Amino acid sequence: MGLTPMMRQYQEIKATHQDALLMFRLGDFYEMFFEDAVVASRELDITLTGRDAGDAGRIPMCGVPHHAVEQYLERLTDKGFRVAICDQVEDPKATKGLVRREVVRIVTPGTALSDEHSNRFLATIVAKGASFGMAMVDVGTGEVYVGQADETLCREQLWLWRPLEIVVAKQWEMPDWLTSFTADTDALMTFRAAADEALIQTQYEVASPVVFGLAAQSPAAAALANLLQYIQETQKMTLRHLQEPKNLFVQAHLQLNQAALHHLELLQTAREGSRKGSLLELLDETMTSAGGRLLRTWLERPLCQRDAIDARHEAVELFVRDLFLREEIRDGLRGVHDLSRLVARIAFNRGNARDLLALANSLTYGQAVIDALRSTTDLPRLIAKTVSDLPGLTDLIKTIQAQLVDEPPVSTHEGRMFREGVDESLDRLRTLQLSGRTWLRDLEQQERERTGIKSLKVGYNKVFGYYIEISKANLGSIPANYERRQTLSNAERFILPELKAREAEILSAEDRAMAKELEMFQALCERVLGQRVEIQAWADALAQMDVLQSLAHVAVMQNYVRPEMRDEVGIDIEQGRHPVVEKLSINRFVPNDTRLCGEQQMILLTGPNMGGKSTYMRQTAIIVIMAQMGAFVPAKRAVIGVVDQIFARIGAADDLGRGQSTFMVEMIELAEILRQSTARTLVLLDEIGRGTSTYDGLSIAEAVVEEMAQRSDCPLTMFATHYHELIAFSQSFANVCNYSMAVEETDAGVTFLHTVVERPSDRSYGIQVARLAGLPPHVIARATALLAVREGMSSFEVEAAAAKQGSPAIANNQTTAQDETALGLFQGPYVAFVEQLAACDVLRMTP
Ligand code: ADP
Repeated sequence: MGLTPMMRQYQEIKATHQDALLMFRLGDFYEMFFEDAVVASRELDITLTGRDAGDAGRIPMCGVPHHAVEQYLERLTDKGFRVAICDQVEDPKATKGLVRREVVRIVTPGTALSDEHSNRFLATIVAKGASFGMAMVDVGTGEVYVGQADETLCREQLWLWRPLEIVVAKQWEMPDWLTSFTADTDALMTFRAAADEALIQTQYEVASPVVFGLAAQSPAAAALANLLQYIQETQKMTLRHLQEPKNLFVQAHLQLNQAALHHLELLQTAREGSRKGSLLELLDETMTSAGGRLLRTWLERPLCQRDAIDARHEAVELFVRDLFLREEIRDGLRGVHDLSRLVARIAFNRGNARDLLALANSLTYGQAVIDALRSTTDLPRLIAKTVSDLPGLTDLIKTIQAQLVDEPPVSTHEGRMFREGVDESLDRLRTLQLSGRTWLRDLEQQERERTGIKSLKVGYNKVFGYYIEISKANLGSIPANYERRQTLSNAERFILPELKAREAEILSAEDRAMAKELEMFQALCERVLGQRVEIQAWADALAQMDVLQSLAHVAVMQNYVRPEMRDEVGIDIEQGRHPVVEKLSINRFVPNDTRLCGEQQMILLTGPNMGGKSTYMRQTAIIVIMAQMGAFVPAKRAVIGVVDQIFARIGAADDLGRGQSTFMVEMIELAEILRQSTARTLVLLDEIGRGTSTYDGLSIAEAVVEEMAQRSDCPLTMFATHYHELIAFSQSFANVCNYSMAVEETDAGVTFLHTVVERPSDRSYGIQVARLAGLPPHVIARATALLAVREGMSSFEVEAAAAKQGSPAIANNQTTAQDETALGLFQGPYVAFVEQLAACDVLRMTP
């Protein structure tokens, strides 16, 4: 083909990176060509130009300046693209013809380094029969997790971790749960050949994966090996900051199903998906980003061993009681940067002297925090253990602070990073530089005197080196040994033999000093990396203290109490509150008790829409979660027997558009709940069976209540329903009790009291709620009339009558006018009277 040689080189490299956008270094720009250019110009909103490529004629091209490339990379990976960076790997000045170019790194959504506060996970999944191996990494912090499990557990973990990119085997036929995860979250799928397990040995310098509890040839080991291979492929280097793998499926956690995470709005709100308004936002009073990440992990994975939970509560209690200590810790943590990310940047060769200094200064602040704790008497065991286990890093800190200047430059190639007196040869080179500069100044002075030109000056540029500049007006009096080199609009530049002779010496001292500093900088980085395990221990300890103080801070500000944890099953909450509704609402929050203990295992909850049913159910679950993550809880008193799982099936509307009908989703979840729940499980069900006809729905609801109530291990259940028939039915079970949300009826309408009372509600107040919602008065009047007529007839009778007439009644007692005539309900003489009466506006009538 008649392409230019450079375009041929481009095409060869592009051929091996088909699944990435290729950024091709040309001078000061990274250029993209052909289809890549079209895509990138659209996504980045940059101009699409063209370039002559030989016989192919003009081809599309667009580019970004090399110094700003990181910002463009972030935008592309955020949009789910993979970008291969192709650099010049030889010095263009030293080569004739085409410069050699190579892909030096591939940036993908799952491997991009960014400074955001949350984790950024990359996952690999390997299937072997019914077992799935899964590994996760956050390249930016070095955390690695691995494990294997069945499909259900893998699916739950996937939703919990939400990786941005998933690497799987080539030609794997992906299961539906994975396809729907990627469709819903826009995670990027990457297909790669399987890796050799020996990679695990070389990365971690261990004899076998068994060291990490991974059987050879197991799906988990395969997933970890694939992960390491992909990191090497994209980063083109072995990452030394990767931590030893931790177990991904630790069973010792309170299991929250995906619906519970979603409906309880722990991490984000259900509707907008924003962090604002979530429980996480409320609880986050951490001072460091590592603390913020750990808090999120505690919230996502609450504990379920009483002893471990108690240990956290004790620690929080210390900070609740001791305000001064808490403030001291908060102050100290303010100076602590993200240690894991600093180490990661250094491991990637992308750190600079400021990063090293930030690391040392952070550790100094961190030491102050730990010292404050060490000098506290009667430390709770969790804190005592953490502070006693920490290795000393004083030497490292002192070395960095003693060697680096207080404000080093961003670049590592310009020198000026190290202090005087750190290295003798560096000092010597600097003296040379200095004497060179003095010599130049003297020369300038001397030449001014010799020529009598006051404006004469010595300058420097890259092309001509040192020169003497003389303005046009003074050109008449130039000595004979001046050689002209450059003409500017109003001045000329000259060189002198003795200037050139000295130039080489001055410049070489400068070059050598910079090279020396870079070498010293790299040695210091090596020292840091050599102690990465110790630094990580400090990072973990400080993050933990940050989370504990944050939980204490919130507990004090919001008036929470320490829950009493028990091994026996049962939840007993006195005057519990919903922490987020309480904080965001302008009205006073009405506290309510929750008793799911002793005899009482199931609460059937009735009451009007907007009465506060779902808030009440959610607050119960949230109090349990907060208690088990180690937090204090919004209540007057709470006794919690450790819960093993929480299932929440609340509000169905947001599941639409997933390809499955709402009803189907609901039934799948219900099946899972029935199969997996134990006596320690908290189950929240809001109005199940809504998506089908009243008969079907009621029958399913009844069967579910019956099944659960009769089980010897009946889960702790809260069941909100509109089926009043269910109330009568449930009265035959001793462990089921009927609660409702109190409503006050006055002439003006209804008021929701938000108080839970121990009796079923007698009506659903649908029409009153409709009026509050602003339905037109004549529609409300008509509905009231229809209801009045129908109240003599149960919904069964309505359905039966409807069935006989061959027109099925619509669920939830909503019937159309056409149905009504078919039912023959409104043919009696009293109908007109009822309608007339209902249409009266009592408030605007005189006696
Ligand atoms: P339901 O599930 O019965 O339709 P919700 O739980 O959604 O009702 O509550 C409706 C509204 O009432 C909520 O927006 C909330 O602001 C308010 N609310 C609920 N419970 C309380 C309470 N205990 N105290 C004060 N306001 C409450």
